[in-house]
Amino acid sequence: RTAIVLFTRDLRVHDHPALAAACAAFDRVVPLYVLDPALAGRSPNRTRFLHQSLADLRAALRDRGGDLVLRHGDPVAETIRLAGEVGAEGVGLSADVSRYARRRERRLRAECERHRLHLRLFPGLTIVEPGAVRPTGGGDHYRVFGPYHRAWLGVARRAELAAPARITLPDRVPVGRLPALPPGESPHAAPGGESVARRRLDEWLPTLDRYDDLHDDLAGDGTSRLSPYLRFGCLSPLAVANRAGDPGGPFVRQLCWRDFFYQATAAFPDINHRAYRRGATEAWRDDPDALAAWTEGRTGVPIVDAGMRQLRAEGWMHNRARLITASYLTKQLGLDWRAGLAVFDRWLLDGDVANNAGNWQWVAGTGSDTKPYRRFNPYRQAERYDPDGEYVRRWTG
Ligand code: FAD
Repeated sequence: RTAIVLFTRDLRVHDHPALAAACAAFDRVVPLYVLDPALAGRSPNRTRFLHQSLADLRAALRDRGGDLVLRHGDPVAETIRLAGEVGAEGVGLSADVSRYARRRERRLRAECERHRLHLRLFPGLTIVEPGAVRPTGGGDHYRVFGPYHRAWLGVARRAELAAPARITLPDRVPVGRLPALPPGESPHAAPGGESVARRRLDEWLPTLDRYDDLHDDLAGDGTSRLSPYLRFGCLSPLAVANRAGDPGGPFVRQLCWRDFFYQATAAFPDINHRAYRRGATEAWRDDPDALAAWTEGRTGVPIVDAGMRQLRAEGWMHNRARLITASYLTKQLGLDWRAGLAVFDRWLLDGDVANNAGNWQWVAGTGSDTKPYRRFNPYRQAERYDPDGEYVRRWTG
């Protein structure tokens, strides 16, 4: 018996519930990734990172006797076609939250039914699945982080899964070549892949006890920088949380923010273009010159310009700088958060619908912040989080 595991943004072999279940229940397993033209071209940085991650995944699957089958086109049509070619009976997929991913899931379900294939969705993108905790007072999801975090801490977690020891492909499946590595836009972008991610986690964890003191220190750069790897699923968030220990500690709390925005996106898939907070008023200015200056890191406000230049150079920006630059765009310049979100979406290696939009809306005051009028004064922020001006010098000097 044969099953297909359709990989999407879960590009790893460790703690991969869909892959582990397929290997346990089927004699032959076909790991598949479909390069979807509908998702291509939004972010050259992420496209490069994706291709690096696919190459690494293919190597890990080959080490286990399997391979990664690569196809181009519509993931649904390609999965059904491959199922016919290899005589598959089942398809496994990690459940996702964005509107696009949910639509893909629905289409896949309908096509699988039509072709008498068994489709099973698996957890793995978050630590606690969206919808697994519901507010006691009613509502389909948590709209505020504090109560969500308290409920989240009480949820029993699934057991972490080992990477499959052996994967057996059916005979004679054409696996397809990975195209040449596409160029990114940021010269200092981190490379993709589960192997790099696991090394990064090993190297960073010994500094975890300093996270609480250092995570807001812009020049100290003491955060994990695991976000791109979590974005593409090169690491399992559950495995990262387990390695970190202390479920109530400050680092795992940040991973909970990620789960929080995923459950918000599952319940409100318009999060990337409509105000999340009921009754939020929006009145943004239109000023293309101011937007261009912000985008290119030439507003004249050093800490804002430093953040935007880090984004362009690395495809990543420190969280404190994201807060400062986003607040400056929306609250000082009065420009629409959607314009800022689009700029971040182009450059960020970790850019994803839930976290990008959830955070942008939090800062803009249209989202889940219980103090929507909050505004960060960039000069005071710089005094506090870059007191020696080292971060500003690093990026604007
Ligand atoms: P660490 O401090 O080491 O945290 C560990 C992990 O926790 C991160 O890798 C990330 O997965 C998660 N995390 C931490 N902070 C947050 C947060 N505020 N919200 C959600 N998850 C969090 N993060 C993204 O992953 N993708 C985005 O597109 C994104 N856009 C953002 C836009 C704005 C305007 C702001 C203010 C924040 C955004 N963030 C986004 C959240 C945060 O800035 C990054 O997750 C963090 O800087 C990544 O660095 P790190 O891995 O070193 O984080």
